Amino acid sequence: MSKTLDRPLFNPPRSGHFWKFDRSDQSRQQRLYDIRFTLLGAVMALIVFGIDTFTPIESAIAVLYVVALLVSSDALSRAGILAAASICFSLCLLSYALTHGLNGDLSTMLRLLVSLSAITITAALLLKNDAARRELIESHAETARGEYRYRSIFEDSRVAIWEQDYSRLRAYLRSLAQDGVVDIGHHAATTEGFVATCAGMVETVAVNDAAVELLHAASASELLGPLSKFIPDGDIRFLDVVHTLFNGGRYVKAQGSIQAVDGSTKSVLTVLKFPDDEAALRRVVVGLVDITEREQTHAALLAAQMELARAARISTVGVVSASIAHELHQPLAALTVNAETCLRWLETDPPDLAAAHRAVERMVSDAERASGIVKSTRTLLAKRPASAETVDAVALIHQTAGLLEHELRRNRATLRIESVGNVVHVGIARHELQQVVINLVTNAMQAMNDAGSSNRVITILISRSDAGKAWIEVSDTGPGIDESHLNKLFDAFFTTKADGMGMGLAISRSALEARGGRLIATNNQATSGASFLIELPLAGGAERASTKAAEQFEL
Ligand code: ADP
Repeated sequence: MSKTLDRPLFNPPRSGHFWKFDRSDQSRQQRLYDIRFTLLGAVMALIVFGIDTFTPIESAIAVLYVVALLVSSDALSRAGILAAASICFSLCLLSYALTHGLNGDLSTMLRLLVSLSAITITAALLLKNDAARRELIESHAETARGEYRYRSIFEDSRVAIWEQDYSRLRAYLRSLAQDGVVDIGHHAATTEGFVATCAGMVETVAVNDAAVELLHAASASELLGPLSKFIPDGDIRFLDVVHTLFNGGRYVKAQGSIQAVDGSTKSVLTVLKFPDDEAALRRVVVGLVDITEREQTHAALLAAQMELARAARISTVGVVSASIAHELHQPLAALTVNAETCLRWLETDPPDLAAAHRAVERMVSDAERASGIVKSTRTLLAKRPASAETVDAVALIHQTAGLLEHELRRNRATLRIESVGNVVHVGIARHELQQVVINLVTNAMQAMNDAGSSNRVITILISRSDAGKAWIEVSDTGPGIDESHLNKLFDAFFTTKADGMGMGLAISRSALEARGGRLIATNNQATSGASFLIELPLAGGAERASTKAAEQFEL
């Protein structure tokens, strides 16, 4: 593929000159050809003139000027054709004047008229033909200029660009639709190797230098052919492209990974637009932007954040343990003393049952005090200094999803955010709500991962209840929650994971309750996964009675 085209593409026909093309651009051979045909036309016109004037033949011989015009017209411009027609016209009149003078009879005058009409009509047709040809050439030149501009952009762009043929994939997806496939996401999750099959049907037909550089190839030819060799196994982001094509969408902006020729993996942002015209699917322009560095920085930042959150949790646990130990020390010590006292009263002879009874009563109240302390621990956890702000829940959740992107990709999970209404404002500290959502999404990812779920979708639905509350429902397609665990899920230190701490849900619920909200767990009948409902008062919202939440979450 030529990199640049530095000569003018095309010189359109010139008007105002007698020659059709700019002579300076003509090849020598073309020029000789033009001169030859013009001379031939001129000689023919002179022969016709000679026969018409100097022989006694009485016929409309002058009509043959038309042949002279036709022969030379190929080399002449508009002005040239007009000039040639005028010369033939004049020769015709001159011949008549020389032959008949003013004594021409009706038949000779009619012959003259026929000849002049033939020349005029031929000249008019030649001019019309010339105009049509000029128009055609101009439109061809415009197409060529457009192609030239596109090629220049394609070749010189610093953005990696591929031209790919999607027609085979389109036909395959259409056949799936005809076979009754409606949800391509579900079909992909249940069909082994679906992504690789689809990627194998997309052929790369051209690439620019930036793409060669991006994928560490030695030449463009290494990148041509099926796309599958560049899509790492299991990169489900290519599904976004398949999804769009299947559903008749036009634009795709997807983040994913691509495998370079040397085996390294690059994070790329892919942008493409499917054309309206089916035939143009053979050359779909796909832009790739390398975001590997940005992703690495982001991953490092996220890891640091996670580490911080973990440290914060551990220190919270430490504080809580110390506080529990301190608070429990006194009632437990009193319990021991009262138990020993009780034993002593029972060991006397005869045993003092009344005194033993009083000691047991004191033991009961000591135990109740200890239990009260354990119960109030959750409230203690919620005593946070942060003050509530008015938080746009929809925007915050979109932001939080950005933080989780890397983890989601690592766990091969898709996060869908849906909202009923544009804005839902809640009163809470931003980081608290963010932490709760991160906890719930992380749990969902872990549950789906541990269960080896093939279809891993987490949906966050943000809406308002009729009672003036904000609802944020996080549901997944994992194994769900064991019925026997539902009532202890929020207990501190309850966990079913080998390395779990069992604090995430306890802390989340306490944080929400401190803001007048709730956290409710249930199993989602539709997806058979778990569903967690965050309920928070709307910032400044009036409350109205509602039974919906109760119905859905069996409160
Ligand atoms: P941890 O994650 O350390 O176990 P959590 O308090 O966050 O602590 O979770 C407590 C338990 O709740 C988990 O061990 C798990 O059994 C259960 N759980 C939480 N989220 C889910 C979910 N999305 N699906 C299934 N079980 C879950």
